[in-house]
Formats: sequence, C-alpha cells, structure tokens
Amino acid sequence: MKYRYLKNVVTLQMDRNKCNGCGMCLEVCPQQVFIFNDKVSTIADRDACIECGACAKNCPTKAINVRVGVGCAYAVVMDKFNRKSKCCGDACCSLDNIPDQ
Ligand code: SF4
Ligand code: SF4
Repeated sequence: MKYRYLKNVVTLQMDRNKCNGCGMCLEVCPQQVFIFNDKVSTIADRDACIECGACAKNCPTKAINVRVGVGCAYAVVMDKFNRKSKCCGDACCSLDNIPDQ
C-alpha cells in the first residue's frame, strides 16, 4: 500500500543543479518519489513522500531537503504490525484515513 499525505503539504525539496546522478535517493526511498530524468534525479510524486528523511540523509551532495517528521513513518510501521493507532496527530494524515486492507 502506498501512503499519501494530503496534497501540497510535504516539505520535500530538491536542487537538481546539485545532483550528481548517483541514484541513492531512488534506492532508499520507500515511496518511489524520485525518477531519473536527463541523468539526474527529479521529484516525480511529491505527495507520496512520508518525510522519513532517508533521501536527504543519504544524498552525498546535499541536494535534498525535507523536514523529517514521525507521523506517516510511524503510521507505516504501525500498519505493518497490524496495529491501529493515531500517528503524530497532525492534520496531514491519520490512520483513520488509511483504508483497511
Ligand atoms: S542522492 Fe542526491 S546526488 Fe544522488 S541522485 Fe539523489 S539527489 Fe542526486
Ligand atoms: S523523505 Fe523518505 S519518503 Fe520522502 S522522498 Fe525522501 S526517502 Fe522518499
């Protein structure tokens, strides 16, 4: 299941001019947010980002910025263990909004 924030609330930003095309962000992103375009990474599905921070942490050129949160990442973990719980409580997402599998 691919989780999504509400539209246009994700803090993810990328400076393509800093990208060296290493591909690390595509490898570590659990949500397939990035694609390659003209040999550099680009954000293809911003609203799928759960702000886990893995891309920014692993980018060797600091091309990516994201405000790391715990809300959706926590929700993903809880869902993996079939535990129903509120996530961070922000308005951006809630397990109440995640359909049962
Ligand atoms: S990890 Fe950074 S340098 Fe590597 S492809 Fe992604 S944005 Fe570009
Ligand atoms: S913060 Fe996490 S989910 Fe969002 S683009 Fe980066 S790796 Fe993907």
